[in-house]
Amino acid sequence: MSIIDTIFSYLPTKRKLTPSGWIKFNAVCCQHNGNTADTRGRGGIIKNADGISYHCFNCGHKASYQPGRHLTRKMRALLGWLGAPDDVISKLAMEALKIEADQKALEEVSLPVFEDRPLPEDSILLCESTVSEETIPAIEYIYNRGLTLDDYPFYVSPSMPDRIIVPFYFEGRLVGNIARKLSDGKPRYITNQQPGYVFNLDNQNWDRTYVIVVEGSFDAISVGGVAILGADIMDKQAMLINRLQKQVILVPDRDKDGLRTVSKAIELGWSVSMPPDWAEDIKDSNDAVRRYGKLYTINSIIQAAESYAVKIQILTNEWFKKVKEKEKDNNDNKAKHRLRL
Ligand SMILES: [Zn+2]
Repeated sequence: MSIIDTIFSYLPTKRKLTPSGWIKFNAVCCQHNGNTADTRGRGGIIKNADGISYHCFNCGHKASYQPGRHLTRKMRALLGWLGAPDDVISKLAMEALKIEADQKALEEVSLPVFEDRPLPEDSILLCESTVSEETIPAIEYIYNRGLTLDDYPFYVSPSMPDRIIVPFYFEGRLVGNIARKLSDGKPRYITNQQPGYVFNLDNQNWDRTYVIVVEGSFDAISVGGVAILGADIMDKQAMLINRLQKQVILVPDRDKDGLRTVSKAIELGWSVSMPPDWAEDIKDSNDAVRRYGKLYTINSIIQAAESYAVKIQILTNEWFKKVKEKEKDNNDNKAKHRLRL
């Protein structure tokens, strides 16, 4: 029984309901507040969207309760005067505190808020720029990844030389970016990402009944999915993805961190796709698109989507076989190395 129902169960049996929704009865407060007892039904309690309120039109005593707030001293007093035993009142007070704590916990995992983070001022939008020495390496890079300039608003910037910039949007606003190095060298990625951000959510509005979740931004662009920008699915990211209310299909990277991503996806109740027809050296969606083309890749992801945890585990053993063997070899070598030392 809810707290409000319990409070109602202690109301006097002699009572009447007014057209405005008040339950009227002889007030139980007045004699405790230095007034004479009410005999004219001047106490009233009303239930509204927020909770309940008691009001005495004789002595002026007021008490209210809202789910998510604690049980006030005045409400506890009222309950006592209504005849509720002390242990019931204590139990209600504890219950109210618990609901309050649960609500606070819920608020803490509420949806993330992203601040505006514009690109460098001198940034050049590749699909609208002229081909120049500045833009050629980036354009080449995009084509080498099996993508075109129309697939995403890619940028370059003289203030970030030798990099291609992938802007992060959220509800139409710029909220970060990732800048990938075009030639060899480190750092490979410079990431300007806010906690909980999910890449490419803005492009999930179309008619698909599913959303494909991948690790990297180029993987996401390749298959029109979203990216968690790493191997770990954060709780706030999961909330943003679940909010799309589509079937969620994770395509893990085929490396040792990918196993961790799969475990988290199972925990979240997501489907996982590890297409059996992808060659063993294909380690992510972008590799697959480069080799098989976009349509084939998306199709194989959908076909291989599996939602049963036990089956996902079994498929994982097969799909990550080489990765696991390599891990084992590495560990064996380390062990041998230690023995030699
Ligand atoms: Zn009163």
